[in-house]
Amino acid sequence: MIDPEAIAEDPIAAVVAGCLVLGDNELGDMVWGHVSVRDPEGRGIWMKAHLFGFEEIERKDILLVSFDGEVLEGGGRRHGEYPIHTEIMRARPDVNCVVHTHPKHAVAFASTQQPLRPISHEATLFSPPDIPRFTLTGDLVTTRELGEALAETLSDRPAALMPHHGIAVTGKSLEIAIMSTVLLERACEYQLLAGAPTTWSSDEEALSKRKNCWSDMQMLWGWDYLVRRANKNAQR
Ligand SMILES: [Zn+2]
Repeated sequence: MIDPEAIAEDPIAAVVAGCLVLGDNELGDMVWGHVSVRDPEGRGIWMKAHLFGFEEIERKDILLVSFDGEVLEGGGRRHGEYPIHTEIMRARPDVNCVVHTHPKHAVAFASTQQPLRPISHEATLFSPPDIPRFTLTGDLVTTRELGEALAETLSDRPAALMPHHGIAVTGKSLEIAIMSTVLLERACEYQLLAGAPTTWSSDEEALSKRKNCWSDMQMLWGWDYLVRRANKNAQR
């Protein structure tokens, strides 16, 4: 069960909660996909261990990984794509949580090469301008150089598509990063449903909606709902 009160004080509780909510939303890809939270003491990142799906994660499955990839605490196996997390956190002091996963609608949408249009509330969080795309490789991001290049593509934006692979999503908090991951997948799903949309919000309307629909308060209300639903589903 997720205790939402524990998240602010306890990075392990935060990563567990993030994984369980992503699992409840079917945003994992079997055992591949990860969540990390910055260590409050600056030692690195707390990250989900490999070999488990999001919905299986417990406290014992969270590792403390240094910025150079050394496992400092925890006994599980480290994900090979840890540089996605360490290099984004290194480049973005404002980011305290990173999500990387391979959700089906985002992966399918990225292959259309269409700009992400603000056809829904969800999409206004990411566009305009169009969501960045990491096109250097669709292969695994397992080196510091590739992690740095991904961070450079992301720049100061909340998320990037990684065509032929997945997505990278950030947040100043765990709650915002997880909500943003859910919203990005939905934005991509809506545009795939539309096919080739012919109408969408003007830049002015989309930017106004970003402020109105996705304020920190709205994001937290959405997060609280996702936690209640994940906890309810876990009891079934
Ligand atoms: Zn990946």
